[in-house]
Amino acid sequence: MAEHQLFRKRVLVTGGAGFLGSHLCQRLLDAGHDVLCVDNYYTGRRSNIEHLFANSRFEALRHDITAPLFVEVDEIFNLACPASPVHYQFDPVQTLKTCVHGSINMLGLAKRIKGKIFQASTSEVYGDPLVHPQLESYWGHVNPLGPRSCYDEGKRAAETLFMDYHRQHGVDIRIARIFNTYGPRMHPNDGRVVSNFVIQALQGQDITIYGDGSQTRSFCYVDDLIDGFLKLMEQSGTIGPCNIGNPNEFTIRQLAEAAVEMTGSRSKLVYLPLPTDDPKQRQPDITLAREALGWEPAVQLREGLERTIAYFDQLLAGKRSI
Ligand code: NAD
Ligand code: UDP
Ligand code: UDP
Repeated sequence: MAEHQLFRKRVLVTGGAGFLGSHLCQRLLDAGHDVLCVDNYYTGRRSNIEHLFANSRFEALRHDITAPLFVEVDEIFNLACPASPVHYQFDPVQTLKTCVHGSINMLGLAKRIKGKIFQASTSEVYGDPLVHPQLESYWGHVNPLGPRSCYDEGKRAAETLFMDYHRQHGVDIRIARIFNTYGPRMHPNDGRVVSNFVIQALQGQDITIYGDGSQTRSFCYVDDLIDGFLKLMEQSGTIGPCNIGNPNEFTIRQLAEAAVEMTGSRSKLVYLPLPTDDPKQRQPDITLAREALGWEPAVQLREGLERTIAYFDQLLAGKRSI
Protein backbone atom coordinates (compact mmCIF):
# COMPACT_ATOMS: atom_id res chain seq x y z
CA MET A 1 0.00 0.00 0.00
CA ALA A 2 1.34 3.44 -0.91
CA GLU A 3 2.18 5.54 2.12
CA HIS A 4 -0.45 8.18 1.37
CA GLN A 5 -3.17 5.52 1.31
CA LEU A 6 -2.61 4.94 5.03
CA PHE A 7 -3.94 8.45 5.52
CA ARG A 8 -6.64 8.26 2.86
CA LYS A 9 -9.90 9.45 4.32
CA ARG A 10 -13.47 9.74 3.09
CA VAL A 11 -14.27 13.41 3.48
CA LEU A 12 -17.71 15.00 3.21
CA VAL A 13 -17.75 18.63 2.01
CA THR A 14 -21.16 20.29 2.34
CA GLY A 15 -21.51 23.30 0.05
CA GLY A 16 -18.82 21.63 -2.07
CA ALA A 17 -20.08 23.14 -5.35
CA GLY A 18 -19.72 26.70 -4.02
CA PHE A 19 -16.80 29.09 -4.30
CA LEU A 20 -14.78 27.93 -1.28
CA GLY A 21 -16.13 24.37 -1.31
CA SER A 22 -14.97 23.67 -4.86
CA HIS A 23 -11.41 24.75 -4.00
CA LEU A 24 -11.49 22.62 -0.85
CA CYS A 25 -12.73 19.53 -2.76
CA GLN A 26 -9.85 19.98 -5.20
CA ARG A 27 -7.25 20.25 -2.44
CA LEU A 28 -8.59 17.19 -0.60
CA LEU A 29 -8.48 15.14 -3.82
CA ASP A 30 -4.93 16.38 -4.47
CA ALA A 31 -3.99 15.14 -0.98
CA GLY A 32 -5.23 11.65 -1.92
CA HIS A 33 -8.55 11.58 -0.09
CA ASP A 34 -12.00 10.45 -1.27
CA VAL A 35 -14.39 13.38 -1.47
CA LEU A 36 -18.18 13.38 -1.23
CA CYS A 37 -19.52 16.80 -2.25
CA VAL A 38 -23.05 17.51 -0.98
CA ASP A 39 -24.84 20.58 -2.35
CA ASN A 40 -28.36 21.74 -3.18
CA TYR A 41 -26.99 24.10 -5.89
CA TYR A 42 -28.70 27.09 -4.30
CA THR A 43 -25.69 29.32 -4.99
CA GLY A 44 -23.24 26.63 -6.08
CA ARG A 45 -22.73 25.53 -9.66
CA ARG A 46 -21.93 22.24 -11.34
CA SER A 47 -19.37 24.10 -13.45
CA ASN A 48 -17.35 24.74 -10.27
CA ILE A 49 -16.81 21.00 -9.85
CA GLU A 50 -17.16 19.58 -13.35
CA HIS A 51 -13.36 19.30 -13.68
CA LEU A 52 -13.36 16.99 -10.64
CA PHE A 53 -15.70 14.35 -12.09
CA ALA A 54 -12.85 12.75 -14.03
CA ASN A 55 -11.37 11.72 -10.67
CA SER A 56 -12.82 8.41 -9.48
CA ARG A 57 -12.32 9.48 -5.85
CA PHE A 58 -14.83 12.32 -6.32
CA GLU A 59 -18.60 11.94 -5.90
CA ALA A 60 -21.35 14.59 -5.84
CA LEU A 61 -24.79 14.31 -4.25
CA ARG A 62 -27.63 16.81 -4.65
CA HIS A 63 -29.03 17.20 -1.15
CA ASP A 64 -30.23 19.95 1.18
CA ILE A 65 -28.57 19.65 4.59
CA THR A 66 -31.70 20.91 6.36
CA ALA A 67 -32.82 17.28 5.83
CA PRO A 68 -31.02 14.40 7.59
CA LEU A 69 -28.20 12.73 5.71
CA PHE A 70 -27.00 9.20 6.37
CA VAL A 71 -23.63 8.51 4.73
CA GLU A 72 -20.45 6.78 5.88
CA VAL A 73 -17.48 9.14 5.94
CA ASP A 74 -14.50 9.84 8.25
CA GLU A 75 -14.56 13.66 8.38
CA ILE A 76 -16.89 16.53 7.56
CA PHE A 77 -16.31 20.10 6.37
CA ASN A 78 -19.60 22.00 6.80
CA LEU A 79 -19.55 24.88 4.32
CA ALA A 80 -23.16 24.78 3.08
CA CYS A 81 -24.75 28.23 3.43
CA PRO A 82 -25.20 31.14 1.03
CA ALA A 83 -22.45 33.62 1.89
CA SER A 84 -23.11 36.86 0.06
CA PRO A 85 -25.62 39.37 1.45
CA VAL A 86 -27.66 39.31 -1.79
CA HIS A 87 -28.10 35.55 -1.62
CA TYR A 88 -28.51 35.04 2.10
CA GLN A 89 -31.14 37.81 2.27
CA PHE A 90 -33.12 36.42 -0.69
CA ASP A 91 -34.66 33.67 1.49
CA PRO A 92 -33.69 34.55 5.08
CA VAL A 93 -35.72 31.74 6.66
CA GLN A 94 -33.91 29.17 4.51
CA THR A 95 -30.58 30.78 5.50
CA LEU A 96 -31.39 30.32 9.19
CA LYS A 97 -32.63 26.76 8.59
CA THR A 98 -29.40 25.92 6.81
CA CYS A 99 -27.35 27.33 9.69
CA VAL A 100 -29.39 25.73 12.46
CA HIS A 101 -31.13 22.58 11.13
CA GLY A 102 -28.22 21.97 8.77
CA SER A 103 -25.68 22.17 11.58
CA ILE A 104 -27.77 19.89 13.81
CA ASN A 105 -27.95 17.27 11.06
CA MET A 106 -24.23 17.45 10.27
CA LEU A 107 -23.37 17.33 13.99
CA GLY A 108 -25.71 14.35 14.42
CA LEU A 109 -23.89 12.68 11.55
CA ALA A 110 -20.47 13.50 13.09
CA LYS A 111 -21.66 12.11 16.43
CA ARG A 112 -22.83 8.84 14.86
CA ILE A 113 -19.70 8.25 12.78
CA LYS A 114 -17.42 9.54 15.59
CA GLY A 115 -15.75 11.82 13.04
CA LYS A 116 -14.20 15.25 13.19
CA ILE A 117 -16.35 18.14 11.90
CA PHE A 118 -15.29 21.60 10.70
CA GLN A 119 -17.63 24.60 10.69
CA ALA A 120 -17.20 27.47 8.23
CA SER A 121 -18.13 30.33 10.52
CA THR A 122 -17.62 33.97 9.71
CA SER A 123 -16.34 37.35 10.80
CA GLU A 124 -20.03 38.36 10.72
CA VAL A 125 -20.31 36.85 14.22
CA TYR A 126 -18.53 40.08 15.30
CA GLY A 127 -21.24 42.19 13.60
CA ASP A 128 -20.34 45.88 13.28
CA PRO A 129 -17.43 45.52 15.71
CA LEU A 130 -16.61 47.91 18.53
CA VAL A 131 -13.23 46.21 19.02
CA HIS A 132 -10.61 46.51 16.30
CA PRO A 133 -8.94 44.35 15.07
CA GLN A 134 -11.22 41.47 16.01
CA LEU A 135 -9.89 38.83 18.39
CA GLU A 136 -11.67 35.50 18.93
CA SER A 137 -12.43 36.50 22.53
CA TYR A 138 -14.60 39.45 21.36
CA TRP A 139 -18.34 38.58 21.66
CA GLY A 140 -19.42 40.90 18.89
CA HIS A 141 -21.88 43.72 18.24
CA VAL A 142 -24.72 42.16 16.27
CA ASN A 143 -28.22 43.39 15.43
CA PRO A 144 -30.55 40.39 16.00
CA LEU A 145 -33.44 41.98 14.04
CA GLY A 146 -31.99 43.44 10.83
CA PRO A 147 -31.64 42.16 7.26
CA ARG A 148 -28.20 40.64 7.99
CA SER A 149 -29.41 38.87 11.14
CA CYS A 150 -30.51 35.63 9.43
CA TYR A 151 -26.88 35.05 8.54
CA ASP A 152 -25.09 36.64 11.52
CA GLU A 153 -27.32 35.10 14.16
CA GLY A 154 -27.58 31.84 12.20
CA LYS A 155 -23.80 31.49 12.19
CA ARG A 156 -23.65 32.43 15.88
CA ALA A 157 -26.27 29.78 16.71
CA ALA A 158 -24.28 27.28 14.63
CA GLU A 159 -21.15 28.02 16.70
CA THR A 160 -23.22 27.44 19.86
CA LEU A 161 -24.43 24.11 18.51
CA PHE A 162 -20.88 23.06 17.65
CA MET A 163 -19.66 23.95 21.15
CA ASP A 164 -22.61 22.13 22.78
CA TYR A 165 -22.19 18.96 20.70
CA HIS A 166 -18.53 19.12 21.70
CA ARG A 167 -19.20 19.57 25.43
CA GLN A 168 -22.32 17.41 25.68
CA HIS A 169 -21.51 14.61 23.22
CA GLY A 170 -17.72 14.79 22.89
CA VAL A 171 -17.84 15.54 19.15
CA ASP A 172 -14.42 16.58 17.81
CA ILE A 173 -15.01 20.02 16.29
CA ARG A 174 -13.11 22.82 14.58
CA ILE A 175 -14.55 26.31 14.06
CA ALA A 176 -12.96 28.73 11.57
CA ARG A 177 -14.11 32.36 11.49
CA ILE A 178 -13.59 33.31 7.87
CA PHE A 179 -12.97 36.92 6.85
CA ASN A 180 -13.77 38.26 3.36
CA THR A 181 -12.27 35.90 0.81
CA TYR A 182 -11.96 36.30 -2.95
CA GLY A 183 -10.57 34.52 -5.97
CA PRO A 184 -11.48 32.48 -9.04
CA ARG A 185 -14.94 30.79 -9.00
CA MET A 186 -16.61 33.54 -6.98
CA HIS A 187 -20.14 33.78 -8.34
CA PRO A 188 -20.23 36.66 -10.85
CA ASN A 189 -23.71 37.77 -9.72
CA ASP A 190 -23.48 37.39 -5.99
CA GLY A 191 -22.93 41.10 -5.40
CA ARG A 192 -19.76 40.78 -3.36
CA VAL A 193 -17.41 43.66 -3.61
CA VAL A 194 -14.41 42.05 -5.30
CA SER A 195 -16.42 40.30 -8.02
CA ASN A 196 -18.59 43.39 -8.57
CA PHE A 197 -15.65 45.79 -8.92
CA VAL A 198 -13.56 43.49 -11.13
CA ILE A 199 -16.49 42.74 -13.48
CA GLN A 200 -17.53 46.40 -13.61
CA ALA A 201 -13.95 47.48 -14.35
CA LEU A 202 -13.49 44.84 -17.06
CA GLN A 203 -16.77 45.89 -18.71
CA GLY A 204 -16.09 49.64 -18.42
CA GLN A 205 -19.19 50.09 -16.25
CA ASP A 206 -19.46 52.45 -13.27
CA ILE A 207 -17.83 51.10 -10.10
CA THR A 208 -20.60 51.02 -7.48
CA ILE A 209 -19.21 52.16 -4.14
CA TYR A 210 -21.78 51.89 -1.33
CA GLY A 211 -21.53 54.79 1.11
CA ASP A 212 -18.44 57.00 0.86
CA GLY A 213 -16.09 54.03 0.47
CA SER A 214 -14.28 54.70 3.74
CA GLN A 215 -15.49 51.42 5.28
CA THR A 216 -12.75 48.79 5.44
CA ARG A 217 -12.39 45.09 4.76
CA SER A 218 -9.41 42.72 4.83
CA PHE A 219 -9.31 40.45 1.80
CA CYS A 220 -7.88 36.92 1.86
CA TYR A 221 -7.00 35.03 -1.32
CA VAL A 222 -8.81 31.69 -1.55
CA ASP A 223 -5.69 29.45 -1.69
CA ASP A 224 -4.41 30.93 1.58
CA LEU A 225 -7.78 30.40 3.20
CA ILE A 226 -7.95 26.71 2.21
CA ASP A 227 -4.42 26.21 3.62
CA GLY A 228 -5.75 27.61 6.89
CA PHE A 229 -8.79 25.26 6.84
CA LEU A 230 -6.59 22.20 6.33
CA LYS A 231 -4.13 23.24 9.05
CA LEU A 232 -6.92 23.88 11.54
CA MET A 233 -8.49 20.50 10.77
CA GLU A 234 -5.21 18.55 10.94
CA GLN A 235 -3.90 19.80 14.29
CA SER A 236 -5.45 19.03 17.65
CA GLY A 237 -4.07 21.87 19.81
CA THR A 238 -7.08 24.12 19.28
CA ILE A 239 -10.68 23.55 18.27
CA GLY A 240 -11.20 27.27 17.66
CA PRO A 241 -12.95 29.47 17.03
CA CYS A 242 -9.96 30.57 15.01
CA ASN A 243 -9.87 33.65 12.77
CA ILE A 244 -8.71 32.85 9.24
CA GLY A 245 -8.18 35.89 7.06
CA ASN A 246 -5.68 38.37 5.77
CA PRO A 247 -4.98 41.17 8.27
CA ASN A 248 -4.09 43.74 5.58
CA GLU A 249 -6.96 46.21 5.70
CA PHE A 250 -8.14 48.36 2.79
CA THR A 251 -10.91 50.89 2.33
CA ILE A 252 -13.51 50.01 -0.26
CA ARG A 253 -12.44 53.10 -2.22
CA GLN A 254 -8.84 51.79 -2.35
CA LEU A 255 -10.14 48.47 -3.68
CA ALA A 256 -12.16 50.29 -6.37
CA GLU A 257 -9.09 52.29 -7.43
CA ALA A 258 -6.95 49.13 -7.58
CA ALA A 259 -9.55 47.34 -9.74
CA VAL A 260 -9.68 50.27 -12.18
CA GLU A 261 -5.92 50.68 -12.34
CA MET A 262 -5.09 46.98 -12.70
CA THR A 263 -7.59 46.40 -15.52
CA GLY A 264 -6.60 49.61 -17.32
CA SER A 265 -10.29 50.49 -17.22
CA ARG A 266 -12.00 53.82 -17.94
CA SER A 267 -14.75 53.10 -15.41
CA LYS A 268 -15.84 55.93 -13.11
CA LEU A 269 -16.39 55.55 -9.37
CA VAL A 270 -20.02 56.24 -8.36
CA TYR A 271 -21.39 56.44 -4.84
CA LEU A 272 -24.64 54.67 -3.85
CA PRO A 273 -26.45 54.37 -0.48
CA LEU A 274 -24.82 52.21 2.17
CA PRO A 275 -26.85 49.04 2.96
CA THR A 276 -28.40 48.72 6.46
CA ASP A 277 -26.03 47.48 9.18
CA ASP A 278 -23.04 47.44 6.82
CA PRO A 279 -19.99 46.97 9.12
CA LYS A 280 -17.68 50.01 9.10
CA GLN A 281 -14.45 48.14 9.59
CA ARG A 282 -13.18 44.62 9.67
CA GLN A 283 -9.72 43.21 10.26
CA PRO A 284 -8.79 39.86 11.76
CA ASP A 285 -6.31 39.46 14.58
CA ILE A 286 -4.63 36.22 13.44
CA THR A 287 -2.33 35.67 16.41
CA LEU A 288 -4.08 32.38 17.26
CA ALA A 289 -3.79 31.06 13.69
CA ARG A 290 -0.10 32.06 13.59
CA GLU A 291 0.73 30.43 16.93
CA ALA A 292 -1.52 27.35 16.96
CA LEU A 293 -1.53 26.49 13.25
CA GLY A 294 1.70 28.09 12.05
CA TRP A 295 -0.47 29.71 9.38
CA GLU A 296 -0.49 33.11 7.82
CA PRO A 297 -1.54 34.32 4.38
CA ALA A 298 1.10 34.44 1.66
CA VAL A 299 -0.77 36.08 -1.26
CA GLN A 300 -1.21 39.82 -1.05
CA LEU A 301 -4.02 41.82 -2.59
CA ARG A 302 -2.42 42.84 -5.90
CA GLU A 303 -1.25 39.31 -6.71
CA GLY A 304 -4.62 37.83 -5.76
CA LEU A 305 -6.47 40.49 -7.73
CA GLU A 306 -4.36 39.72 -10.81
CA ARG A 307 -5.43 36.06 -10.69
CA THR A 308 -9.06 37.03 -10.04
CA ILE A 309 -9.08 39.54 -12.90
CA ALA A 310 -7.64 36.85 -15.22
CA TYR A 311 -10.45 34.47 -14.20
CA PHE A 312 -13.28 36.95 -14.77
CA ASP A 313 -11.68 38.12 -18.02
CA GLN A 314 -11.90 34.55 -19.36
CA LEU A 315 -15.43 34.13 -18.00
CA LEU A 316 -16.64 37.32 -19.70
CA ALA A 317 -14.92 36.34 -22.95
CA GLY A 318 -16.97 33.11 -22.92
CA LYS A 319 -13.83 30.99 -22.51
CA ARG A 320 -15.23 29.56 -19.28
CA SER A 321 -18.76 28.52 -18.38
CA ILE A 322 -20.63 29.94 -15.40
P1 NAD B 1 -21.11 29.96 -1.85
O1 NAD B 1 -22.47 30.55 -1.84
O2 NAD B 1 -20.32 30.02 -3.11
O3 NAD B 1 -21.16 28.45 -1.38
C1 NAD B 1 -22.11 27.91 -0.50
C2 NAD B 1 -22.56 26.57 -1.04
O4 NAD B 1 -23.51 25.99 -0.14
C3 NAD B 1 -23.25 26.68 -2.41
O5 NAD B 1 -22.71 25.72 -3.27
C4 NAD B 1 -24.71 26.41 -2.09
O6 NAD B 1 -25.42 25.87 -3.18
C5 NAD B 1 -24.59 25.47 -0.90
N1 NAD B 1 -25.76 25.44 -0.03
C6 NAD B 1 -26.43 26.49 0.50
N2 NAD B 1 -27.43 26.06 1.29
C7 NAD B 1 -27.39 24.70 1.28
C8 NAD B 1 -28.16 23.69 1.89
N3 NAD B 1 -29.18 23.98 2.69
N4 NAD B 1 -27.83 22.41 1.63
C9 NAD B 1 -26.82 22.08 0.80
N5 NAD B 1 -26.04 23.01 0.19
C10 NAD B 1 -26.33 24.30 0.43
O7 NAD B 1 -20.31 30.65 -0.66
P2 NAD B 1 -18.79 30.51 -0.21
O8 NAD B 1 -18.19 31.84 -0.31
O9 NAD B 1 -18.13 29.36 -0.87
O10 NAD B 1 -18.98 30.20 1.35
C11 NAD B 1 -18.81 28.90 1.89
C12 NAD B 1 -18.95 28.96 3.40
O11 NAD B 1 -17.99 29.85 3.94
C13 NAD B 1 -20.32 29.46 3.85
O12 NAD B 1 -20.73 28.73 4.98
C14 NAD B 1 -20.05 30.90 4.24
O13 NAD B 1 -20.94 31.34 5.23
C15 NAD B 1 -18.62 30.82 4.73
N6 NAD B 1 -17.93 32.14 4.60
C16 NAD B 1 -17.50 32.61 3.39
C17 NAD B 1 -16.88 33.85 3.31
C18 NAD B 1 -16.35 34.40 2.00
O14 NAD B 1 -15.78 35.51 2.01
N7 NAD B 1 -16.48 33.73 0.90
C19 NAD B 1 -16.68 34.62 4.47
C20 NAD B 1 -17.16 34.12 5.68
C21 NAD B 1 -17.76 32.87 5.73
N1 UDP C 1 -28.58 12.79 11.69
C1 UDP C 1 -28.22 12.72 10.36
N2 UDP C 1 -27.34 11.76 10.00
C2 UDP C 1 -26.79 10.86 10.85
C3 UDP C 1 -27.17 10.95 12.22
C4 UDP C 1 -28.07 11.94 12.61
O1 UDP C 1 -28.66 13.51 9.53
O2 UDP C 1 -26.01 10.02 10.43
C5 UDP C 1 -29.54 13.81 12.09
C6 UDP C 1 -30.72 13.21 12.81
O3 UDP C 1 -31.76 13.00 11.88
C7 UDP C 1 -31.09 14.24 13.85
C8 UDP C 1 -29.90 15.17 13.91
O4 UDP C 1 -28.94 14.65 13.02
O5 UDP C 1 -32.21 14.99 13.43
C9 UDP C 1 -29.29 15.28 15.28
O6 UDP C 1 -28.86 13.99 15.68
P1 UDP C 1 -28.70 13.68 17.22
O7 UDP C 1 -28.24 12.24 17.30
O8 UDP C 1 -27.87 14.67 17.88
O9 UDP C 1 -30.14 13.90 17.79
P2 UDP C 1 -31.42 13.00 17.91
O10 UDP C 1 -31.41 12.01 16.77
O11 UDP C 1 -31.27 12.34 19.24
O12 UDP C 1 -32.52 13.99 17.82
N1 UDP D 1 -19.71 47.08 -1.52
C1 UDP D 1 -19.61 48.17 -2.37
N2 UDP D 1 -19.99 47.99 -3.68
C2 UDP D 1 -20.42 46.80 -4.18
C3 UDP D 1 -20.51 45.69 -3.29
C4 UDP D 1 -20.15 45.87 -1.97
O1 UDP D 1 -19.20 49.27 -1.98
O2 UDP D 1 -20.73 46.75 -5.38
C5 UDP D 1 -19.28 47.26 -0.11
C6 UDP D 1 -20.29 46.78 0.92
O3 UDP D 1 -21.22 47.80 1.23
C7 UDP D 1 -19.38 46.45 2.09
C8 UDP D 1 -18.10 45.94 1.42
O4 UDP D 1 -18.13 46.45 0.08
O5 UDP D 1 -19.06 47.63 2.81
C9 UDP D 1 -17.99 44.43 1.39
O6 UDP D 1 -19.18 43.92 0.86
P1 UDP D 1 -19.41 42.36 0.59
O7 UDP D 1 -20.85 42.19 0.22
O8 UDP D 1 -18.39 41.86 -0.37
O9 UDP D 1 -19.09 41.64 1.98
P2 UDP D 1 -19.51 41.92 3.50
O10 UDP D 1 -20.34 43.17 3.59
O11 UDP D 1 -20.28 40.71 3.90
O12 UDP D 1 -18.21 42.07 4.19
